Amino acid sequence: FKKQIAGLQAYQPGKTMDEVKKAFNLETVTKLASNENPYGASPKVKEFLANANIDFALYPDGYASKLRAAVANHLNISEKQLLFGNGSDENILIVSRAILEPGLNTIMADLTFGQYKHNAVVEGAEARTVPLTAEGEHDLEKMLAAIDENTAIVWICNPNNPTGTLTPSDKIKAFVEQAPSDVLIVLDEAYTEYITDNSYEDSIQLIEKHPNVLVMRTFSKAYGLASFRVGYAVGSEEVISQLEPTREPFNNTVISQEVAILGLSDQQFIADCKEKNNAGKSQFEAYCRERKLHFYPSHTNFILMEVKADSDVVFQGLMQRGYIVRSGNALGKPGYLRITIGTKEQNEELLQKLDEVL
Ligand code: PMP
Repeated sequence: FKKQIAGLQAYQPGKTMDEVKKAFNLETVTKLASNENPYGASPKVKEFLANANIDFALYPDGYASKLRAAVANHLNISEKQLLFGNGSDENILIVSRAILEPGLNTIMADLTFGQYKHNAVVEGAEARTVPLTAEGEHDLEKMLAAIDENTAIVWICNPNNPTGTLTPSDKIKAFVEQAPSDVLIVLDEAYTEYITDNSYEDSIQLIEKHPNVLVMRTFSKAYGLASFRVGYAVGSEEVISQLEPTREPFNNTVISQEVAILGLSDQQFIADCKEKNNAGKSQFEAYCRERKLHFYPSHTNFILMEVKADSDVVFQGLMQRGYIVRSGNALGKPGYLRITIGTKEQNEELLQKLDEVL
């Protein structure tokens, strides 16, 4: 083909739970690798799915009108400030497709979520990476200094995947105030519901003064709806209207739109999950402290922790024992594992198995 994409790798799926069961002759396998909610979704979603009566021959609402109204109401914004994607993954793609091209560059942290760079490569744009600080925060001064006249997008993943760390809102605000207004600043807040720092200010309020800010959120994490693929971006009406034409017309299914509305309506479920997640996080932190293993302070439902061993070997050892996690080698952090915080029992058992492996 005439378009050549150098250095682009297809998504490498890990072993499925069924494959792991078969390979190691296990009765149960627990996946704590992709930061899904171990408690699933709101009971309202389960009830809906048990009784759903959907005319599945018809296309879904291509503007997600009911879901749009529910999210706009929840966030107290206008419906025109929302873009719905097939997960935040698709929103990252939509933004990249709309805004990047050869000759332009985009700035992101190292380490951060891999899809920003991946989509930059697809569009033939340059991906500039700026190391995180030792504490795992985005180094916003250096990111600001990396901006030049060809910079189109800056990605700030907050809290950051894979470190789980939070860059404080006052630093984000200062960055947004200093960055050129023709650079799109994307705040990817996939884990926002898990933030435990009470001084963190809602970043959606930045949009009014700074129409070049776009905030991305998802139903895949705290809402426990990853399989349905619903994410949304909140921006100024000008920015959303520039992005909307690159969206696929029917990118959220009928059922996805319904379950997202129900998930959103049950904020008590989100609050309960956050509380249980905090307790689960403490189990991992105590384990690391006892064994003098470094970990990043997490504001998410996962933890990036040191294992003082070959991450791939530890990952394999846990998999043989029925726990699928992420090896740091796959995330650019050798010697570490990224583990999704599970239920109390799952965490206890996983940490017991980790002791066997280490
Ligand atoms: N952004 C971040 C930081 C993530 O961790 C993830 C999930 N791995 C996504 C975006 C994509 O989420 P989804 O497409 O499921 O909404």
